Amino acid sequence: MRDQYLQAMGITRWVKREPDPVFVVDKVEVEKSNESLVSEQAKPNEVELSVVQTPESHQADNLDWPSLAEQVSACVACDLHATRTHTVFGEGSQQADWLIVGDAPGTEEDLQGVPFLGQGGQLLTAMIEAMGLKRQQVYISNSLKCRPPESRDPDAEETMACHVYLKRQIELLQPKLILAVGRVAAHNLLESSEPMKTMRGQTFTYKDTGIPVVVTYHPAYLLRAPSNKAKAWQDLKMAMRIVAGEVT
Ligand code: URA
Repeated sequence: MRDQYLQAMGITRWVKREPDPVFVVDKVEVEKSNESLVSEQAKPNEVELSVVQTPESHQADNLDWPSLAEQVSACVACDLHATRTHTVFGEGSQQADWLIVGDAPGTEEDLQGVPFLGQGGQLLTAMIEAMGLKRQQVYISNSLKCRPPESRDPDAEETMACHVYLKRQIELLQPKLILAVGRVAAHNLLESSEPMKTMRGQTFTYKDTGIPVVVTYHPAYLLRAPSNKAKAWQDLKMAMRIVAGEVT
């Protein structure tokens, strides 16, 4: 009531700002390890029995969650299948309003088949919790479901081959918002090559779905550059307002 009076009188009431939450983790994550697993070469004269799925031939339209997960775990559509230990399908609530998309599994994720473990994962969890959510309430996935050797950036062919799976995850989930963490995820979702500083602070939509996409820093980057956590918090607040329907 008092606010309404003040507003009617044209008086702006200054409200004490909530301090930005600090997303804390214990130690700075060292870059993903660069060990790579050597693929077993097919021996000469051996008949190759498996049908190799090429990016053109494999598709995931109409698959439900279990069939999609099964197809991902058997995927050989790009060379990354040869060096992976496990595919990393994604985890979280299939009813989630939020889809968080990273780039690709790292060493630990490849070993365990679960996205965002280690220090980067802890920081991502802290970011989710700062928004008043629990990690289990959101869905977390990656642009790529297999780890690129030496944790290099995925190439265009690998990204294209894997995109059918992320696209189907988005169709099944129908999230209220997609949060792209990092440049690789943002470029993949937005089919863009803009730098982070251009993509942050804007609302995009995923292809022709109308699902809003917000871009923020990757947790691994924030571990190396913690002074950018305040900017990441601005991005998260913008995303929260979109999910709450306060802005479009
Ligand atoms: N980085 C990502 O983008 N995703 C993971 O799952 C792990 C590290």
